[in-house]
Amino acid sequence: MKDSAAKTTQRSLLTGSKSTMRWMVLFTLMVLLAGCASVSSKNPPAPIKTLIVDGQNNHKWAQTTPVLEEMMEASGRFTVDVSTCPPRGEDMTAYKPDFAAYDLVVVNDGHKADPWPRQTKLAFEKFVSDGGGVVIYHAADNAWPHWKAYNEMIAIGGWDGRNETSGPYLYMDQDGKVIRDTSKGKGGGHGKKVPFEITVRDTKHPITKGLPVTFMTGPDEMYSFLRGPALNVTILATAYSPKENSGSGHHEPMLMVINYGKGHIFHTVLGHAVPHIQKDSFKITYLRGAEWAATQKVTIKVPEGFPAK
Ligand code: ZN
Repeated sequence: MKDSAAKTTQRSLLTGSKSTMRWMVLFTLMVLLAGCASVSSKNPPAPIKTLIVDGQNNHKWAQTTPVLEEMMEASGRFTVDVSTCPPRGEDMTAYKPDFAAYDLVVVNDGHKADPWPRQTKLAFEKFVSDGGGVVIYHAADNAWPHWKAYNEMIAIGGWDGRNETSGPYLYMDQDGKVIRDTSKGKGGGHGKKVPFEITVRDTKHPITKGLPVTFMTGPDEMYSFLRGPALNVTILATAYSPKENSGSGHHEPMLMVINYGKGHIFHTVLGHAVPHIQKDSFKITYLRGAEWAATQKVTIKVPEGFPAK
């Protein structure tokens, strides 16, 4: 009897310690979960699902796309897929990227690109007007002069037959007054590749906020004489285009933002080729512009000493 009572006491002691253990485990789990929740609320936002479209451009898209992809993914803010259209002159009817599956589309098609099929154009227009983000990168503003909606998205463009029927030249005067110049003439021009100074004209916009008011590019192509519908566009930064280097003598838009429906477009004319897009002056403005186009917020920091030499 004594033995049995002792066993019972021991069992109940054991049961008691098991239940205490269970409470301790539960408590530890709750503490850990609370910790996880507070960590996750401080985590960066979900990556921006990005699609780069390329395949037809007189610029070396097959070289620049992988570099753009790598820099976007390395920033930690973007995941990137690429959709390459068939070569120029080939059947385009099956080219139907699923724009709606993305937050952001980067256009790396350009000069003399064949038109997309009608359904693809309509899907892209719907993607943007429904609130999608777009980056117009350098020669992307050469593409598709006869696609009305696309030209409204880029605001201004050059070459491929653009002239006064495409819309006014858009530039600024020294004091930052926006000029819409309806004079006749070709759309698009650039001089030799030289380093040049960029002047931020809107220091409060999320993309340019925190950038030095002036900064230098590496050697790059400075576009000039761009013209187009120029609707719903804000010029964020300009560069003076000297006549001595085949320029216009005006302060030409280098970075712009455009609204189209509920969509947001960032247009950078910088970045002719791989060496030019590896410069901070391109990279940081491009990444910040891309983030803004998709989210209307910018978390990508301007590095100390921007732009790096
Ligand atoms: Zn170029």
